[in-house]
Amino acid sequence: MRAHHDVNDPLLHTGFLKGFMDGSLGSRTAAMKAPYSDDPGNTGLPQYTQPQLNKMAVERAHAGFQLGFHAIGDKAASMALDAYEQPGISSTARNRIEHAQVVDPADIPRFAKLGVIASMQPSHLLTDMNWAEDRLGPQRAGYSYAWKAFLDAGVPLAFGTDYPVEPITPFRGLYAAVTRMNEAGTKTYFPQNKIMRGQALYAYTQGSAYAEFAEKHKGKLLPGYDADFILVDRNLYTVGAPAILQTVVQESFVAGQESFAGSVSAR
Ligand SMILES: [Zn+2]
Repeated sequence: MRAHHDVNDPLLHTGFLKGFMDGSLGSRTAAMKAPYSDDPGNTGLPQYTQPQLNKMAVERAHAGFQLGFHAIGDKAASMALDAYEQPGISSTARNRIEHAQVVDPADIPRFAKLGVIASMQPSHLLTDMNWAEDRLGPQRAGYSYAWKAFLDAGVPLAFGTDYPVEPITPFRGLYAAVTRMNEAGTKTYFPQNKIMRGQALYAYTQGSAYAEFAEKHKGKLLPGYDADFILVDRNLYTVGAPAILQTVVQESFVAGQESFAGSVSAR
């Protein structure tokens, strides 16, 4: 596929390969170091053994791919880090762990050491907070979706929506990142891992640009940059947190050209 596609196509970037380490928390298929709190015989379903994973990772890295492993459980994240720690894999490759929802606190500094990006989607918390504590128990739940802990450890953070698994609006994720509260505002999930609005907006823009080696032309509004941007109807730094959810996109620009004008609620 890569051979048949222009690597410089600005709208479809093909340098990245995603592999699946495990499943999801909701279905109890995320690979965990210790059993599920609500299913004591079950530690989830890793998709590979460590030797298989190590071999695959080196082969694909040598073929020139940037790697990302979907890892929801702490065991899956650990295995992915073990694979990235191999001598054949460079710490400048900007390899990623996708989702990184439950990560053993002892593994967080390994992301920084290995140059691995935590590629996360805060909107997952709004869906998963309905069952996460049942699955994980209070201790593991307390360090899950650990956006602040990653930032504090110097780990590059890239945010996205995970559409179509979650709704495409980024504002739901922004709200989750800065509140760790459900949309009704009635329940908060371990608020110690909240982050600041500027940190969340950075992760959605410059952090994501860095994660695709595009930080020199995407992620900022500066002369010479791509001018991909939107106009919204409110100041996301100053509105009350619940109002973030009602943000309306008024105009969209791609490479400086208006691609959408009107008024659409991103929800
Ligand atoms: Zn995934």
